[in-house]
Amino acid sequence: RVEPVADDLGEVFAKRGHELALVGGPVRDVLLGRAGHDLDLTTDARPEQVLEIVRGWADAFWTIGIEFGTVGARKGDWQLEITTYRSEAYDPKSRKPEVRYGDTLEADLARRDFAVNAMAVRLPSHEFVDPHGGLRDLAGRVLRTPGTPEQSFGDDPLRMLRAARFASQLGFTVDEAAIDAMRDMAERIEIVSAERIQTELDKLICGPNPRAGLTLLVETGLAAHVLPELPKLRLEIDEHHRHKDVYEHTLIVLEQAIAQEAAGPDRVLRWAALLHDVGKPKTRKNEPGGRVSFHHHEVVGAQMAKRRLSELKFPKEVTNDVARLVELHLRFHGYGEGEWTDSAVRRYVRDADHLLDRLHKLTRADCTTRNKRKAAALSRTYDELEERIARLAEEEEIAKIRPELDGNEIQEILGI
Ligand code: ATP
Ligand code: MG
Repeated sequence: RVEPVADDLGEVFAKRGHELALVGGPVRDVLLGRAGHDLDLTTDARPEQVLEIVRGWADAFWTIGIEFGTVGARKGDWQLEITTYRSEAYDPKSRKPEVRYGDTLEADLARRDFAVNAMAVRLPSHEFVDPHGGLRDLAGRVLRTPGTPEQSFGDDPLRMLRAARFASQLGFTVDEAAIDAMRDMAERIEIVSAERIQTELDKLICGPNPRAGLTLLVETGLAAHVLPELPKLRLEIDEHHRHKDVYEHTLIVLEQAIAQEAAGPDRVLRWAALLHDVGKPKTRKNEPGGRVSFHHHEVVGAQMAKRRLSELKFPKEVTNDVARLVELHLRFHGYGEGEWTDSAVRRYVRDADHLLDRLHKLTRADCTTRNKRKAAALSRTYDELEERIARLAEEEEIAKIRPELDGNEIQEILGI
């Protein structure tokens, strides 16, 4: 099935003597039966020529990606990105892939990250082009590089992270040879810019199976470079002895948080779950006897989360929200029964502010990994806390609509 809008543009390109093909994500996803995708297309026309063609055809167009060969267009409800054929050309020392245009679809496909992303459909002929066995890999649900993984990851080390991202997003495994190359070449990821790393990590965390992607990162040693807090959790014995390490606890909390999402992936909640205990290793080691106050751990953890997300160049709101959740999730455990005074509850609500709903989810997720009896008790205590929060909110609403006048003044005005 090819969208008529793509065929239409294919006719326009053909009339001008240019090739056009659907490529990458949309081809892969149609074959997987995954829903609605923006249309990625590739052509031999140079960006200026693409722009000229698109100008007369699209409802709107944009040129932000033009220095990388991409022209964007909107036609009706469809968003299209048309990228000029590229040939393999990366400067191993540069942080940004260098752009060199190519002349054939085959050469363009050869420099793509994985065989499943290196399939194309020529327009308007619908000829299916799959030189690297993408369809076979799709059936086997495996990620394999078109050439050798060493060459591919050497050309652009970001592809190692993309492997982990697609493992989370598509639930595919990564070919053994590629995993070996990731292990050997992990430190090369250091030359890639923080922005590109952030995009892939974020898609990994927001995918349906982040455990698969994170496991790959940790086991290949990539995590030590892009999320060093994570593998460090492995050295920590979980205080509740439910899991062999805080790392496993963290993955479960992430999954429990995801299970509570109402509508689609919640980036802030997921990152907060992932980073909620990063303050633990440090605080434990630094304290004699290994015991630290909850408050200390909260603050250190929040600072560490903030540092990691700012280094990854996340937007400020995301960074601050995640750090705030990491800080507040422990307050619940810090208070014993009966210590939640009205003012403590009010402070909790005020400090959580717009994050209250996520804080509930994160705290509950964190409770589930205790033993059954303890988890049930914690959950009951949290139910009570939520009820009190609701009651206080109601009282405050009532207080708001109560008139400013006191009884005497009202009597006076009414002459009673
Ligand atoms: P989605 O957009 O659903 O996340 P996608 O496969 O479209 O998935 P993009 O990051 O949008 O992923 O990339 C579009 C296509 O460009 C990919 O399918 C792949 O063929 C190619 N590609 C992207 N980044 C790289 C890279 N670093 N090296 C090689 N090819 C790449
Ligand atoms: Mg895409």
